[in-house]
Amino acid sequence: MAGPVSVLSPLEHPPSRPRLTPLSLAVFPRLATAALDLVFPALCAVCEARLGPRRRDPLCGPCWDAIDRIEPPFCDHCGGPCATPGSAMSELDERGWGTGPRSEYPSSLEPVPHPLICARCAAEPPPYDYARSAAVYGGVMREAVHRFKFGGRRALARPLAELMVEQCGASLPDGIAAVVPVPLAGDRERERGFNQAALLAERIARRLDVPVRARWLARRRATRPQSDLPAAERLANVRGAFRATRAVAGSHVLLVDDVLTTGATLAECARSLRAAGAGRIGVLTVARVR
Ligand SMILES: [Zn+2]
Ligand SMILES: [Zn+2]
Repeated sequence: MAGPVSVLSPLEHPPSRPRLTPLSLAVFPRLATAALDLVFPALCAVCEARLGPRRRDPLCGPCWDAIDRIEPPFCDHCGGPCATPGSAMSELDERGWGTGPRSEYPSSLEPVPHPLICARCAAEPPPYDYARSAAVYGGVMREAVHRFKFGGRRALARPLAELMVEQCGASLPDGIAAVVPVPLAGDRERERGFNQAALLAERIARRLDVPVRARWLARRRATRPQSDLPAAERLANVRGAFRATRAVAGSHVLLVDDVLTTGATLAECARSLRAAGAGRIGVLTVARVR
């Protein structure tokens, strides 16, 4: 049950913790954390249980384990989960996601040809070169993203960015020159106090050892929140909403956002980057709608 302790989570409000000198925290970080947990038990940002074993602060072990990760095989272009080779095309959903590769695989055990491309991408390739997402948007992941974006739980940037690198790092192509967060409208960022995409981008850039170039992509105008709109209106809502600088010319850019829903925002960002001369454009999100 949510009580005052969970509202003032010690993880996000360090001043509310007992005073410890920086030296003692540096020398005994584990001891300090353990001691603080005794006084103020650290609670999971999603289920509010005590964090316990296998914790990924501020997520508890069971919530971390319950995330529906996207495992290979996935579409090389959009990163959507693919059924195993040889599965029937009748498994196509109406958007072409969660499907097998477009080409028919023989039933024999021939090596799987690369790359796998889903039916949707084969019919209408997205304007970016590749996309990867760590998990399916739902359950714990949906709750975590909501609390991260709308509940001000910035500490969730750490486990979510770790998940992105752990799940997708190995399948990201070489040569990424910079990480670019999807820009948030100015008034929305002021209201929220942060851009969730930028918090993820900073951590990912550090792990990939490349710079963040937030200024390479900016908003030209405000847009309505995509979540307020039906899928059919999302493209029009963001059309022409972004502007990329010429600094991107020739560079391999990795665009970072929290969730890929219809992909309209990321597609529009990719078009702007392409128009400004970006060499290669990848997309990395923590979650995607299946
Ligand atoms: Zn939990
Ligand atoms: Zn695809």
